[in-house]
Amino acid sequence: MTSPSRGCTIWFTGLSGAGKSTITEQLVPLLKSRGCKVEVLDGDVVRTNLSKGLGFSKEDRDINIRRIGFVCHLLSRNGVIAIAAAISPYKNLRDENRALIKDFVEVYVKVSLETCIQRDVKGLYKKALAGEIKEFTGVSDPYEAPDHPEVICETEKETPQESALKIVHKLEELGYVARRTDDGVHPKSDAKFSFNEAARV
Ligand code: ADP
Repeated sequence: MTSPSRGCTIWFTGLSGAGKSTITEQLVPLLKSRGCKVEVLDGDVVRTNLSKGLGFSKEDRDINIRRIGFVCHLLSRNGVIAIAAAISPYKNLRDENRALIKDFVEVYVKVSLETCIQRDVKGLYKKALAGEIKEFTGVSDPYEAPDHPEVICETEKETPQESALKIVHKLEELGYVARRTDDGVHPKSDAKFSFNEAARV
């Protein structure tokens, strides 16, 4: 039986609260319903195990991103679609992982800092703006947006489902996921538009 997918890494990048985890939640079932093997390396989860003890200095952030990249590399080359959902603020580290992994699909979750502050999902921006958290990306630490990401998800303009479909379409286009012409990509979908419409985004 031919595999419905080829291994690769979907590398999310974006501010805290941009929507990386939310889009990942939508993306995983879409990929699994197509028979893909999927693993998620969520930034917050990684920091409680693989990178436990690391802080947020440039050096620690780099170690964290290298570790995530290393695991994604192992998974991708074994046919898994690895999803890295961490802020990964530094361009050079993302590029380093791109060079290592090769099958690398960078997804920029684009949103204004103002919206993230407004959403403040975890209450961290309030603390960062009050100076209670140091080295907070976007507030007191840099965020370097990618120049040429494979996908841009604008979470102020599109729904998480639309963003997830956009990524699936890019994976099809790049040959990582088999093309499907029906609408079965969203089995429990409440999407407002069909996959064919999404493909034109
Ligand atoms: P991150 O993983 O990037 O830190 P989260 O996914 O945890 O961000 O949080 C994003 C927040 O923004 C969630 O509360 C989510 O419900 C909200 N949100 C609103 N609109 C969107 C959208 N279009 N895409 C993704 N998240 C959205």
